[in-house]
Amino acid sequence: MPLELVQGDIAAQTTCAVVTAANKELMGGGGVDGVIHRAAGPELLRAIRPLGGTPTGTAVITPAFGLAQQGVKYVIHAVGPIWRGGQSGEAELLAGAYCHSLRLALEHGCGSVAFPSISTGVYGYPVEKAAPVALAAIAEVLAKRPDLRVRLVLYDVGNLHVFQRAWEKFAAQNPNA
Ligand code: ADP
Repeated sequence: MPLELVQGDIAAQTTCAVVTAANKELMGGGGVDGVIHRAAGPELLRAIRPLGGTPTGTAVITPAFGLAQQGVKYVIHAVGPIWRGGQSGEAELLAGAYCHSLRLALEHGCGSVAFPSISTGVYGYPVEKAAPVALAAIAEVLAKRPDLRVRLVLYDVGNLHVFQRAWEKFAAQNPNA
């Protein structure tokens, strides 16, 4: 399975596309989005503002601007759900944010994509619940496109361990993944 789980900073990646956890207004935010916008420079905000927003569970793609210096071609702005207890379609929306991001990367000819853990910061999605959803969504796309390289970049080691355990469980239940 061409999926890698690493601890690190999403803004330091050199993949063809880097995903940021955006808000649906696409106004630029804190957390991962702030880090990506600082690294890419003010042109990034100028590029997404005219788009006027995108629904939760979807994503938009722009050039990477300043991140191009390190080889990144595109920033994908994915909008995950705000956690409201788990009965408001959060899992489907989170899976949608990952799948839509991967589809955009493939449509733009990218062979590698790096993701942060969408929704598990300010949006409050418990990482133990988000990890299996994220991994299943990515695995579904990779089953059809095993040529794509996907890297999940977890900022802190605790989240990395949660994702690693979720991946072991997923792999045990899906031996062909
Ligand atoms: P959301 O609003 O979708 O919850 P956040 O940006 O608040 O997005 O957080 C998403 C996740 O990204 C959190 O788990 C947070 O720990 C992590 N994170 C924060 N900074 C970075 C970074 N520089 N690289 C990768 N992940 C990061």
